[in-house]
Amino acid sequence: MKKILSVILALALMMTAAMAVADTSYTATVDSQIGGVGAVTVTVTLKDDGSIAAVTVDECKDTPGICDLPCEKLPADMVAMNSINVDIVAGATMTSDAILAGAKAALENGGVDITALMEKKEVVVEKAADETLEADVVVIGAGGAGLAAAITAEQNGAKVIVVEKMPKVGGNTILAGGAVNAVDDRSEFAIKQNDSVQWHFEQTYSGGDYQGDPELILTLVQNAWDGIEWTKSLGMEWLGEDAVFTVSGGLWPRAWKPAMPAATGFFDTYTKYIEKTDAINLMLNTKAEKILTNADGAACGIIATGETGNTITINAKSVVVATGGFSKNVALRQAYDAIWGMLDESVMSTNHEGATGDGVKMLQLLGADFVQMGNIQLLPLGDPKTGSLSGNIEHGVDTRIFVNKEGLRYGNEAGRRDDMTRDLFAQTDAYMWIVMDSDTYPTGDEVNNFGETANQLVEAGRAVKADTLEELAEKMGVPAENLVATIDEYNKYCIGGELEGQADQFGRALFGPKIDNGPFYAGPRVPTVHHTMGGVRIDTQCRVYNENGEIIENLYAAGEVTGGIHGSNRLGGNALADTIVFGRIAGESAALCK
Ligand code: ADP
Repeated sequence: MKKILSVILALALMMTAAMAVADTSYTATVDSQIGGVGAVTVTVTLKDDGSIAAVTVDECKDTPGICDLPCEKLPADMVAMNSINVDIVAGATMTSDAILAGAKAALENGGVDITALMEKKEVVVEKAADETLEADVVVIGAGGAGLAAAITAEQNGAKVIVVEKMPKVGGNTILAGGAVNAVDDRSEFAIKQNDSVQWHFEQTYSGGDYQGDPELILTLVQNAWDGIEWTKSLGMEWLGEDAVFTVSGGLWPRAWKPAMPAATGFFDTYTKYIEKTDAINLMLNTKAEKILTNADGAACGIIATGETGNTITINAKSVVVATGGFSKNVALRQAYDAIWGMLDESVMSTNHEGATGDGVKMLQLLGADFVQMGNIQLLPLGDPKTGSLSGNIEHGVDTRIFVNKEGLRYGNEAGRRDDMTRDLFAQTDAYMWIVMDSDTYPTGDEVNNFGETANQLVEAGRAVKADTLEELAEKMGVPAENLVATIDEYNKYCIGGELEGQADQFGRALFGPKIDNGPFYAGPRVPTVHHTMGGVRIDTQCRVYNENGEIIENLYAAGEVTGGIHGSNRLGGNALADTIVFGRIAGESAALCK
């Protein structure tokens, strides 16, 4: 009996092994040239009949927290549809494209005939029934301002519904570098930094050419530190005083860094909070179409389109509009632009695809007032292929310079964002390199503000690295003698240089250590549309004005959809502060309104 059993067992084992070898796995890594994100490694496992058994994304070097959804959804769809030609995830085009390319390369490299697996399967979505929901507060948009508003409304006792048109939370906020300008006036650190809430106010006001509303600016700077404390109370982790830096165009070292890369930490925190409460219903893939008003003209809900195309009516006591900006809407930005005069498709954007100005259109129908819509912020820091902020090797302002195709510095790299961008447009092909040394990346394995290491960026062809400046110049394709002379001259103004303490010929006054510690790094950048600073007019309680200067009752707005805070030029590091401060105010106002 024992013998028979062991023979059966052996046979069973052999069969399992035979079945296992019938599945074959194919792996490929595609580099960042596809989609402009870091390298992605994909494994596709085929059954012996050629159908897909499994797909895994083994490695994705895009910013963690941003690429999670496509890394989960695309492999699942490929298995379910037995096709490697599945729909991309909206708002995550670059990662999606890299995963699709990875799956294709894996099979092709393995000599598999992919004709059948490239067939696009028709996805039939059954339309769900129309529905009507009730809430105290409905929030439109699950970006930084929207989720801060939703959580604060809940903390003030409200039952909240958040609608988000994209398949994920985060909006544009999650793509930001993560820096938040904030001053704790009472702290010794502020004194040490020669900083104060008043100085933050003055720089914000003058940095926007005195166009911002002083009351709104005061609200921003006075509540920014509390905002950080509030995120901490929700469990968010921040780096300490040592990591406080001057963000590009931030004009002062007052930017605090979250512990997680980019702005992913906010959403990690916010979504964990939302998961734990029954009082916030977060509806993804749900697009607000219209804000409802009652007979008195007060906001009383919204109409939205659900994931399957069904109509969702949400009745609520109050509405918070937190739909972000319109940098991705070329027609709208061209119609409003009062600064640049050429914001057509040729100028890329740092923004996510959902930044199309839906809030502007919905608010216009209610007769809302808009301010400074022509003020559109560009950055000189876009990826040359995609316009995105990621891939930027810089850390803070004091350790890096900008160099044009001729290998020369051309402007004040510690200046305002509009000035830096104008300077860049005047260079050959509006193209420049950010150059720095190993003070920033002692080993090359340290990360930038987006969770990417310098070595990864070099590997992916998004940056170059060399032991000497001559070699660096060669890799950049700029004249070596110019680069060497430029950096020699720059170093004179740096700490320990013979002109330390003086401003240079471009008016730059902020200098860190010399750029003399190889290996050296350089990464290319171009102008990119970043932030629409104009928007709907609000008061300090985030109430929305109509064109007659009256308040539209029960309607609130926060974040990039609002205008009049940043004036003609927003300080780097003030946008995330804006989402937290005004998001919280809007949430509280909306929860407490009658
Ligand atoms: P902010 O920084 O002001 O919070 P974000 O861009 O981070 O702006 O977030 C705005 C969010 O609003 C994005 O996630 C965007 O997809 C979402 N959104 C925009 N229009 C709509 C709409 N019509 N319905 C639902 N969500 C929307």
